Amino acid sequence: MSKKFDIIIVGAGIGGATLALALACSSTAHFITVLESSSVITELGAGIQVTPNFTRILTQLGLGNSLAAVGVQPQYMRQVRWEDGKTLTHFNVNADDRMEGLFGYKYWHVHRKDLHRLLYEKVLQRGVVVKPGVKATSWEHGSDGREIVHCDDGTIYEADLVVGADGARSLMADLVTGHKVQSMATGDSAYRALLPAAVMDAPEFASLELRKYATTWLGPGRHIVSYYVCDGAFYNIVIIVPDEPGEESWKKLGDMPALRKQFMNWDPRIKKLLGMIDESYVWKLRDRPSLSKWVHDEGNLVLVGDSAHPMLPYIAQGAASAAEDAMALATCLEFVVEGKRDLRSVLKVYESLRVPRTAHMRDAARANKEYFHLPDGPQQVIRDEALRADGLTGETPNQLNDVQKLKVLYSYDVKQEVVDHFRALDAKM
Ligand SMILES: Cc1cc2nc3c(=O)[nH]c(=O)nc-3n(C[C@H](O)[C@H](O)[C@H](O)COP(=O)(O)OP(=O)(O)OC[C@H]3O[C@@H](n4cnc5c(N)ncnc54)[C@H](O)[C@@H]3O)c2cc1C
Repeated sequence: MSKKFDIIIVGAGIGGATLALALACSSTAHFITVLESSSVITELGAGIQVTPNFTRILTQLGLGNSLAAVGVQPQYMRQVRWEDGKTLTHFNVNADDRMEGLFGYKYWHVHRKDLHRLLYEKVLQRGVVVKPGVKATSWEHGSDGREIVHCDDGTIYEADLVVGADGARSLMADLVTGHKVQSMATGDSAYRALLPAAVMDAPEFASLELRKYATTWLGPGRHIVSYYVCDGAFYNIVIIVPDEPGEESWKKLGDMPALRKQFMNWDPRIKKLLGMIDESYVWKLRDRPSLSKWVHDEGNLVLVGDSAHPMLPYIAQGAASAAEDAMALATCLEFVVEGKRDLRSVLKVYESLRVPRTAHMRDAARANKEYFHLPDGPQQVIRDEALRADGLTGETPNQLNDVQKLKVLYSYDVKQEVVDHFRALDAKM
């Protein structure tokens, strides 16, 4: 019989919430406490792309129908030229059941708050204890082998296992590695906005058929991704631009007039779109070299999500990979068996399965930065010609439509991978 643990999760973002649910749904009834520094447990107001590998996990956790109730199913995607919005390529997403046919699950566009609410409601229903407004400030491996977390309100929690799901600026990552983990500025920042659908009915946008196509404008050093969320009630826009020099803050209110200036020569419809955004936060996008260590050398302290592997959002795999980590860790714990396999050894298996997979996702996202941001010139001409030909040749520089590359990302069943891994180990015993 697998072993029951006291588990503390630090952070209730998508990674921490998915882990809490995956643990609560697992065959072992662990006792789970989630500590969240923010007093309100939610996500920011923006869209998120839920790719089929992420949909698979949400479905395995019993959220398939709820996701369908809050999500928009994009039918097609289109990539267009920055200066005039001319189509460079378009391809089926859910149209003709392409995603389900190829990868088993749909692709969704969802409001982050809706996705987080679905996870959080189920987490509470399953009896997980959640402590909002409690910030973990330190961790120690006790002499009796228990893990101890100290918090800013003076409370102390003890557990068999502590999981750092505390995001890209992770204290838990510093504690696991024993040094300050520095993330790197990637050179890009993201503005995000949600516009009410009514303003998108302006005649200027009609020819773009935005209800039919999720659209990405590719431009020199910049790109813009846009799609509907909330059953079509809001239009989500992500604007990626070069970092402002000297900027230190990772999230602050952006300078909209300065942003609009950067797009003066772009497709007039982009100018119109940006003119309708009154304010937006701006996030300095960061990633980092792979952390080879996700598990503390002595204590049962382990990382999931952005705390282990922040990545550029250019392949929509940041939250998806956090959800994969969550499912992987919860499944690994089912294979701790008294007298046969201990907690430390399954944590190392978790790390060994997740480090290469997330490095692959991060590299794919970095490659898209080059592809999206080519300056006008010979390489951009080659890219655009290849994009125009991709329907005919089947070959494409566009990772988002490259079936072989998508198979690696989207067909992956992390739960099955963990089960197969342990079955293979058992067979050798
Ligand atoms: C512009 C943009 C677009 C994106 N689009 C997509 C997309 O379409 N699809 C996709 O899959 N991914 C996308 N991502 C990536 C995705 O948003 C992140 O990878 C994901 O949200 C990370 O979740 P997390 O739970 O690991 O971290 P976070 O969301 O950062 O959550 C960490 C939580 O821990 C809490 N916390 C921090 N420190 C402490 C502490 N000491 N004690 C207690 N609590 C603490 C924080 O308050 C927070 O709630 C995008 C990212 C950006 C920037």
